[in-house]
Amino acid sequence: MAGGSYEEAIAALTKLISEKADLSGVAAAKIKQLTAELETATANGSTPFNPDERIRTGFAHFKNEKFQKNPELYGELAKGQSPKILLSIVRMRELLFHYFMVFACSDSRVCPSHILDFNPGEAFVVRNIANMVPPYDKTKYSGTGAAIEYAVVHLKVENIVVIGHSCCGGIKGLMSIPDDGTTASEFIEHWVQICTPAKSKVKTEASTLEFSEQCTNCEKEAVNVSLGNLLTYPFVRDAVVKKKTLALKGAHYNFVKGTFELWDLDFKISNSVSV
Ligand SMILES: [Zn+2]
Repeated sequence: MAGGSYEEAIAALTKLISEKADLSGVAAAKIKQLTAELETATANGSTPFNPDERIRTGFAHFKNEKFQKNPELYGELAKGQSPKILLSIVRMRELLFHYFMVFACSDSRVCPSHILDFNPGEAFVVRNIANMVPPYDKTKYSGTGAAIEYAVVHLKVENIVVIGHSCCGGIKGLMSIPDDGTTASEFIEHWVQICTPAKSKVKTEASTLEFSEQCTNCEKEAVNVSLGNLLTYPFVRDAVVKKKTLALKGAHYNFVKGTFELWDLDFKISNSVSV
């Protein structure tokens, strides 16, 4: 935790004590104790967050526990990230590997390698605010277009999976843009409006639901808009429709309930796994 966070926590707790005169004696005592502990920790400087150290220890753990224990995997991966190379690993380890392109939100709670247990070499990942796929546009969205082109044309991935998630701030932001279109941010609202069709559908079809439920619906509908947008890329359309070498899948990860829904491009939910 950063030093600033400690100070904020102390300020918040102090404010709570002053405002909540009706707190029970036990609760008030507990808050005072926590405040004292935080002040001591800050004064001692015993636990300031060091980002460089966190990165170094994280890599050291990976190197010791994974890299050095799997020389054949990382040796092959050092030569390239193509599915063919992975196939040789599959035979070596008798493991079932698939090769994916994944769109996931930048939210730190939804890292696809973490929640889907991907190994290096399994998934070519794009992460952005609210896991959105913009429509084909060489000028406005060249970064996303380049990633899709590379994955489909050169890596020849067999599946593209767009993963939405619960409590997505980007989707909440989209749902909160007023009807007159007024925006307050430099980039965020402009970006999330890629999925305005999803917002419109939810506002029309689920207008009686609570706002939070509308957001949940929009998290899923936005995935469907992204799947539709993927078809605006000619090489995606070609691989899906003509060659039938590529499948498009939607998903929604709920980290409150611990569930993961998966569906195909035809928008039918084909599988739902509760973990
Ligand atoms: Zn999100």
